[in-house]
Amino acid sequence: MTSNFDGVWPERILRQDILSLHAYHVQASPGMVKLDAMENPNSLPESVRIEIAQAVANAAINRYPDANALSLKLGIKAVSGLPAGIEVLLGNGSDEIIQLLALAVAKPGATLMSVEPSFVMYKMIATFTGMNYVGVPLTEDFSLDLNAMLAAIERHQPALIFLAYPNNPTGNLFDEAAIVRIIEAAEGLVVVDEAYYAFASNSFLPKLGQYPNLLLMRTFSKLGMAGLRLGFLAGSKSWLEHLEKLRLPYNVGVLTQLVAEILLRHHDVLLQQAEQIKRDRVWLFERLVGTVDVHAYPSEANFILFRLPHAAKVFEGLKQRGVLVKKLDGGHPALLDCLRLTVGTADENELFVRALQESIHQYS
Ligand code: PMP
Repeated sequence: MTSNFDGVWPERILRQDILSLHAYHVQASPGMVKLDAMENPNSLPESVRIEIAQAVANAAINRYPDANALSLKLGIKAVSGLPAGIEVLLGNGSDEIIQLLALAVAKPGATLMSVEPSFVMYKMIATFTGMNYVGVPLTEDFSLDLNAMLAAIERHQPALIFLAYPNNPTGNLFDEAAIVRIIEAAEGLVVVDEAYYAFASNSFLPKLGQYPNLLLMRTFSKLGMAGLRLGFLAGSKSWLEHLEKLRLPYNVGVLTQLVAEILLRHHDVLLQQAEQIKRDRVWLFERLVGTVDVHAYPSEANFILFRLPHAAKVFEGLKQRGVLVKKLDGGHPALLDCLRLTVGTADENELFVRALQESIHQYS
């Protein structure tokens, strides 16, 4: 039952900045070709699914999980090739780790910095944790504006900088030397967020341990485990032993630990799927570039950003044809008329291309 008191209570009690926030929007997608959320579109081989089913049948879900997830961490280290002396902290998705990092540095007046456009949760989490947020604009081709970054670092002295590498939603890798300059100039923590590492040609992982203020974050969501919710932060023990204090006990559940461990033993299967996604990305990019009036941005991730006239209408046209992509138009001024397409299966990609051509035709 609702009453006319209902809206008054939250407004009286909740923080004004939370009341003013727009919730992170997840589009409904029943029955749609889902190309909006950077998921791996492939299912697992039957043998792996049977292995998971048997393990899950025997899982002790009446017990709390291993609070330190020791066995899973060994699996992560085995596939990640971390430099010597680098440890990992696990999160219920890397979103949770962004929040944990912000909580850890949120002294009164502290600043969280990133670039724009980038992953929207950096700004949202700055708000959740009461931090100031500074978003330094990228250049017109979505490169880092190094001078602007250095000036903003000098001026705002950020406690925490996030750089997504490759960047979401633009798909590009920023210049490595520019990031190094930022790490060197920053007196706060710099987190390189490699959510899309599996599709990229470069990584900051070998640089871990070379800079006292560098941490690296990854997620397994894009590799094929989005439903499990598992991300990790890699860095030296001197950072992680303090950050671990903020991690909620048992944040990674029994089933996530169990299934992720199995999947990491079949890492080769997931990597092959990632390689296929990279090949299909090339195919899609060529189709987009070959479409009149479409400007596609080169991508090192499992999605492609593209710009075209009447993007919002074309987005609706795609939806009417059963294809869901992400509409970025209306979100950030630099993303005017932009849509973001996640690479799907070969069939899904073909469906998308056909639906795009029809939708463009409809609105031109
Ligand atoms: N970082 C970036 C750059 C992302 O794009 C995303 C997901 N969209 C995340 C982190 C969060 O991923 P997850 O919480 O699924 O690990």
